[in-house]
Amino acid sequence: MIKYYSINGELVPKEQASLGITDLAIQRGYGLFDYFVVKRGRPVFFEDYLDRVERSAKWLHLALPVTREELKQQVLQLIRANGEQEAGIKVILTGGYATDGYSPEKSNIVILEMPPPKYPVSKFEQGVKLMSYEHHRTFPSAKSINYIVGIYLLPQQQAAGAEDVLFHFNGEIYETTRANFFIVTEDGIIVTAGDGILHGITRKRLLEVAKQHYTIEERKPTLEELKTAKEAFISSSTRLLMSVIQVDDVIIGDGVPGPITKHLLELMKAEVERYLEEK
Ligand SMILES: *Cc1c(COP(=O)(O)O)cnc(C)c1O
Repeated sequence: MIKYYSINGELVPKEQASLGITDLAIQRGYGLFDYFVVKRGRPVFFEDYLDRVERSAKWLHLALPVTREELKQQVLQLIRANGEQEAGIKVILTGGYATDGYSPEKSNIVILEMPPPKYPVSKFEQGVKLMSYEHHRTFPSAKSINYIVGIYLLPQQQAAGAEDVLFHFNGEIYETTRANFFIVTEDGIIVTAGDGILHGITRKRLLEVAKQHYTIEERKPTLEELKTAKEAFISSSTRLLMSVIQVDDVIIGDGVPGPITKHLLELMKAEVERYLEEK
């Protein structure tokens, strides 16, 4: 049972967990977060996520109020207190209580634990559709709490029956609102944006294992290339890999999850297992 959240290192019954209303997260949408999954009581790829929290903070000029080790211990303390073997963890660092309503002060740290993400098996077996939108994120390298464009587009996304929104700009594809995007070209090359995106931890781990089997190009795939791509997929901590079979009216390949996508999903599952078996 998830009973607690952590607020600035204190375990608080989750119904009572709260922040003051002068926090810059509320006043100005200024803050960062990260999200990872817990399996067998352990955060998967934990060090990678701690690295990213530090990088996000640097990019956003947000000062971490604790050391990396203290943050790590706060997360582990929460996992121990709730006792769940499988879960999702969200770490949020806010801009803090701003006396002038604008300038960052000591950041608040909120750590939430939630049931593990569940997607219907059919989404993996059949693949999903995306809706495209011309946009690229500001401060792309930081996992900012600001998802205003994606949330604003939700009614359109739902009307289109799309799983997520794919951001492109000047004909080049960046990423989706919350996942990285990949295509497999006609020639069997895996192409994914190398800059202008949030560097997903799943993307990072996936590229490491994929390069042992496939050729990879880190450059932005174009909208034009989508029309001839054999496969496409997205990656994120919640989904690992999910096949994309359609973007707007463009059917990708045969309109079913392709063999390379399926192979990569198996490789990623094995990578998670390998991590959990270490020490
Ligand atoms: C979180 C996120 C991703 C995926 O990153 P993971 O570390 O794999 O979960 C990709 N793009 C954006 C914009 C994100 O917020």
